[in-house]
Amino acid sequence: MNVRVLSVASEALPLVKTGGLADVVGALPAAVEPHGVKMTVMVPGYPSVMRAIGKGRQLHAYASLVGEPARLLSARIGDHALVVLDAPAWFSREGNPYTAGDGKDWPDNWRRFAALGRAAADLAGGLVKGKRFDLLHAHDWQAAMAPAYLRFAPPEGGRAVPSVMTIHNMAFQGWFGAETFAGLGLPRSAWSMHGVEYHGGVGFLKAGLEAASAITTVSPTYAAEIRDPQFGMGLEGLIVSRGERVRGILNGIDTVQWNPETDPEIAERFTARKLDRRLRNKRALEEEFALEPGDGPLFVVISRLTWQKGMDVLVEVLDHLVGIGARLAVLGAGDAAMEQGLRQAAARHPGRIGVLVGYDEALAHRMQAGGDAILVPSRFEPCGLTQLYGLAYGCVPVVARTGGLADTVIDANPAAIAAGVATGIQFGRIDRQTLAHAIDRAVALYGDRDEWRRIQRNGMRCDFSWQASGKAYADLYRSLIG
Ligand code: ADP
Repeated sequence: MNVRVLSVASEALPLVKTGGLADVVGALPAAVEPHGVKMTVMVPGYPSVMRAIGKGRQLHAYASLVGEPARLLSARIGDHALVVLDAPAWFSREGNPYTAGDGKDWPDNWRRFAALGRAAADLAGGLVKGKRFDLLHAHDWQAAMAPAYLRFAPPEGGRAVPSVMTIHNMAFQGWFGAETFAGLGLPRSAWSMHGVEYHGGVGFLKAGLEAASAITTVSPTYAAEIRDPQFGMGLEGLIVSRGERVRGILNGIDTVQWNPETDPEIAERFTARKLDRRLRNKRALEEEFALEPGDGPLFVVISRLTWQKGMDVLVEVLDHLVGIGARLAVLGAGDAAMEQGLRQAAARHPGRIGVLVGYDEALAHRMQAGGDAILVPSRFEPCGLTQLYGLAYGCVPVVARTGGLADTVIDANPAAIAAGVATGIQFGRIDRQTLAHAIDRAVALYGDRDEWRRIQRNGMRCDFSWQASGKAYADLYRSLIG
């Protein structure tokens, strides 16, 4: 029999995306379906979502959900079921789902995402007749109150359902002052070390991690790393205490969206056997970024411009990168100082460094198709998707050895080269020397055209589809519903 799962998150492709979370939540329903799981995705009704679903069918109307009227609407997301939390007081705001126009978090984020959690717990617990769920799957802090409500304030007369809490990034924990507790509608008993209380306030992710039946994160290495303060960011003790209940399941990629053989966005389609065809994509990319065409390696970066992503260190090595004959195209947005550092480097090296500040999904495809190598110098990386897209497109990943980057790229060390299995380059610490050395290695390898092609082909033949991970999630769900 099918297992019915409600998957709750603050973003999901193709409706709303700020990062990898959306790719994963959007891809999961199809990933688990072959393994007997029917998944319904639940997201807030931001303007973009409301426009996409049209009217929807009303499942339930709240006179007051955490203080404001709200409705649950049923719709479709591709071939899969979707539930939208239509609460205009909280979600009818254009732009980024979490921040106001000035880039600062909305001050009522605690209330907005408590509402998402409350409604998800109600729905999973049987609020709507004819909609039964066997399990609730919550993603990141914005959905983390759902398992907490199921545990500490379950819907009256509802069914007890198990829950899974997935950490896509431990750096975002959703901490709010103690004064918010009274607005959450939780019993006093939930204000405890084993409840929602965290450092004198309310910790949304912490609450979800305490309450969930099982915890996952998005790569095996990150699952191990978050037991350590450097990566656990205060929650390492809780992770260690949950022991065997924490596991890492690697994200897959959407191999229909990200397939160089059929990609409609790129100048010329190609396969592992027809790598020569990449050249037209490289020339097109050079033109798009106003770079001098050339035979030397063209690096690309597609990233949020943040400390996590090591973009400050990248800025420091750009003169070196140009000095050894390489070029770079950057697409990203984020930290103003990093944007400025990149722009200044582009101004110092016209024709060698091109920077586009912004978010452009189609351009991301063209960069993977035309770039020779993608740089991912993250200080930590729960899974990372851009290196997986790079592997699929023959854009060789040059990555920090952390989290999912460590799990998905095989460093071209002598043993891996001798065995014919290398797929990219890994480096240890995130500092200027180490990154510069990794770039040197990439440039040297690129000079050996046969070896470089072998590395490209090895990467393109890797299977990072959802096949294995879809099964891993389905097995986990089954183990919890018993
Ligand atoms: P994170 O979720 O931490 O930002 P991931 O590597 O897991 O990092 O996912 C990032 C996703 O966002 C990828 O799909 C990547 O292609 C995309 N992306 C990041 N920045 C941009 C951008 N400026 N324009 C287009 N796509 C971007």
